Amino acid sequence: MRQDGRVTADPGTDPATEPAAVPAPGALGPAPAEVDAALARGGVALPSPLEEAADARLARRGVTLLLKRDDLIHPDLVGNKYRKLRLNLAAALAGGHDTLLTFGGAYSNHLRATAAAGRLLGLRTVGVVRGEELAGRPLNPSLARAAADGMTLDFVDRALYRRKAEPEVAAALAARHGRAYVLPEGGSNAPAVLGCAELGRELRGLADVAVVPCGTGGTLAGLAAGLDGAGRAIGVPVLRGGGFLADDVRALQQAAYGGPRGDWALEARFHHGGYARTTPLLDAFAADFAARHGLVPEPVYVAKALHALVTLAEEGAFPPGTRVAAVITG
Ligand SMILES: *Cc1c(COP(=O)(O)O)cnc(C)c1O
Repeated sequence: MRQDGRVTADPGTDPATEPAAVPAPGALGPAPAEVDAALARGGVALPSPLEEAADARLARRGVTLLLKRDDLIHPDLVGNKYRKLRLNLAAALAGGHDTLLTFGGAYSNHLRATAAAGRLLGLRTVGVVRGEELAGRPLNPSLARAAADGMTLDFVDRALYRRKAEPEVAAALAARHGRAYVLPEGGSNAPAVLGCAELGRELRGLADVAVVPCGTGGTLAGLAAGLDGAGRAIGVPVLRGGGFLADDVRALQQAAYGGPRGDWALEARFHHGGYARTTPLLDAFAADFAARHGLVPEPVYVAKALHALVTLAEEGAFPPGTRVAAVITG
């Protein structure tokens, strides 16, 4: 990856004012500083680097490609997970919690990041994992990493997992694991959206369009809010049938800000068969992108967003002169 193409932050960029939102900064007391100090021990790169990448396919259209390297933010809290967890960790400390409890599938980056955050902050972590049948098997590398970071893994059957937000299930988990700060699946809630707004603020004045892959949509919700109309955010759902995601993004912005924020849209054509699925077309695209730019795209999310970005550019979706940032979330 070219380091010389780094785009410097615009000192005139005015940070968007933070509307009244959860959690109110005052309510957190010294917690964010404590969180930042603990997470910084892993080595934090913020704002994340913004690099220009010469790509003939976009240059032909007069479009500039920028890579927003959130994958370089933190070695253990990979990519956007740092942004999503930061204010949640502050809220957990401010609430006097010593345990984080959250949910995920067997390959969840969110579970792994939560486990790492717990280790860095000295908090107990519990991961409720979808799939009872996994309990008797050797852990995959992702879960092994979470366990090595001290996470207690609680494997539950799929029917129960689907009911995880219901009060009886929450009560059963509390009985099993004690009082905990509960993060939803994927870590998307109001504090996560507020944390991801920083991503949008870092891009203000530097990019006209930002393209981001979407799982739960929390990162897109924050990105659009942080851009606050200074640029457009395009979300690329990696799950099949990502149409439902628009409602989720609206609900997350409602929870974080009390209403809609920013200018965003979804491009649902690029899931390539669904979560963790791929196609020969996507594989070829990713290999070619790696050869052109020296960056091997993370396959579950990032490759699909990059494929969307290049396809849209080739379709003429961006007028000449547009600076398009790809958010490298992991
Ligand atoms: C978790 C994750 C996402 C999805 O973020 P959402 O906020 O759930 O949409 C995207 N990219 C990578 C690499 C991730 O790990």
